[in-house]
Amino acid sequence: MVDTAMKDRARPNAETVPAAGPRRIRAARGPTLRCRTWRAEALLRMLENTLENAEKPDELIVYSARAKAARDWASYDRLVDALMRLDEDETLVVQSGKPVAVFRTHVAAPMVVMATSNIVPRWATAEVFYDLERKGLTMWGGYTAGDWQYIGSQGIYQTFAAIAREHFGGTLAGRFVVSAGLGGMGGAQPLAVTMQGGVALVVEVDPARIRRRIDDGYCQHLSADLDDALALCRAAVARREALSVGLVGNAADVLPELARRGVVPDVATDQTTAHDPRHGYVPAGLAPLEVAALRAADPEALEARALESIAAHMAALLAFQDAGAVVFEYGNNIRVQARRAGVSDAFTVPIFTQRYIRPFFCRGIGPFRWIALSGDPADIARIDALALECFADNHIVTSWIGLAAKHIRFEGLPARIAWLGHGERARLGVLVNEAVGRGELAGPVAFTRDHLDAGAVAQPYRETENMPDGSDAISDWPLLNALLNCAAQADLVAIHGGGIGYTGYRQSAGITVVADGSPAAGVRIERSLTTDSGLGVVRYADAGYAEAVRTARDTGIHTFLPDVAPDHREEGMI
Ligand code: NAD
Repeated sequence: MVDTAMKDRARPNAETVPAAGPRRIRAARGPTLRCRTWRAEALLRMLENTLENAEKPDELIVYSARAKAARDWASYDRLVDALMRLDEDETLVVQSGKPVAVFRTHVAAPMVVMATSNIVPRWATAEVFYDLERKGLTMWGGYTAGDWQYIGSQGIYQTFAAIAREHFGGTLAGRFVVSAGLGGMGGAQPLAVTMQGGVALVVEVDPARIRRRIDDGYCQHLSADLDDALALCRAAVARREALSVGLVGNAADVLPELARRGVVPDVATDQTTAHDPRHGYVPAGLAPLEVAALRAADPEALEARALESIAAHMAALLAFQDAGAVVFEYGNNIRVQARRAGVSDAFTVPIFTQRYIRPFFCRGIGPFRWIALSGDPADIARIDALALECFADNHIVTSWIGLAAKHIRFEGLPARIAWLGHGERARLGVLVNEAVGRGELAGPVAFTRDHLDAGAVAQPYRETENMPDGSDAISDWPLLNALLNCAAQADLVAIHGGGIGYTGYRQSAGITVVADGSPAAGVRIERSLTTDSGLGVVRYADAGYAEAVRTARDTGIHTFLPDVAPDHREEGMI
């Protein structure tokens, strides 16, 4: 068991003390506890780590235009203080990024529960959200910012791996991929393509974002000239060499220009912040200062300009699709915004989740992740080795761990994403907890996942689009997921609302559980990592996916579902 000696009142580490000028948070590392338990210390380090990786840390904005880790700096300081004082039989309650109460509960209860950006359905509109946010009553938490689970840009690889498998014989070598947006999530695109051997041209309006991705090892080149960038890409495609170029430009200018020139990529998608035409998507023809001025003076006019650009951007994606490119929406709601802007056929572009990810969900597989709270990269290497040994026959895991160990540079606390399924997550979690207990790792490990996961989200224009039984908009599942994970003793459980205009389009749930090496942690891990992915399998079995029914049966989930369901193998089962 790791050191839990320092239980006295402690003060924040130097990095968390308010200082003059912009605040920079860095997660604590090493064996010293500032909290009374490793469970609370782990959650504090996760909060700090989320901000260490933030795109706009001064504003507490982590990624996805406005996804925040805390309501404001006063709330952040109170969260830190509350976590440091929290006893193991207490639960801290967080309402949209603001701590509101601590209750005595039970040592087996979550230490933190939170609800973020939830608005009663009939009121869940962009206008109401912006008004409530302006009044300081809510914030948007994205998926993993509001519940302190963000680990940087690692998570996008499996979509491109599935595309390579399905369309190009297992590799993107000699293939040209065009996209836009190199922010917190979008920044992973170039590396995800080059890991598959392909060539990526990613258009990004802000050169500082391109430089950040180059510094972090996610992108190779910056270009400010379309002709130069295309020449680089064409040469690499011809040589079948992997290459990534971040092109400074506006997607609403560059993609239509590519279409006009008759350039047809093999694959095209988008990760600009099209979900938010006020604070995210930058309209063509406006400099950053002009955008800021228009936002302050006339946000509706800015939104109209952004929608106009999104329409042009979408028209180019549709032209690529008509010319034979593999085109998909990457979860930024660009199709919805384009349709608002008059592009009536925007929804002929499929959503990536239904097209490539759903088969994984049927087996409870999703972007599971773990974080070395010690800060020691060797802990991740040890867990990599454990995972490779444990899942030697699982090609999804072994191929990814090999690539990730070679290519992924850690941002913030060392962390690893791996697409593990139902049963696998609990198995690895328990083994890691035992290794922590034996002192084989430098410190405890936190386990968590994206809200993009089987049982954790209802989002009819993304994860749950075109469910075979029509249950796209049923949001019982993420709510049940959160309730069940509390019952199964997870350490942090969160319920998030969100979507376009930050409300009304989705409901999701988050979970974190901490391996501190104790037997009690072993129980929490085994139970919560089983319920979490297990409910995901049940959700897809209930919708009629035979693969999910089989997984439920094979893994011994006690369901009340029929044994045989219609087979949807034609929808891309793996
Ligand atoms: P972010 O705010 O960190 O970055 C967005 C980037 O887009 C910024 O760098 C911005 O400069 C750039 N941009 C905006 N308008 C542009 C334009 N017209 N042309 C070129 N570049 C432009 O956001 P993020 O975290 O990278 O998320 C991007 C989108 O992806 C969001 O809509 C988000 O909701 C969605 N998302 C998808 C997934 C997924 O798993 N597929 C996960 C999280 C978020």
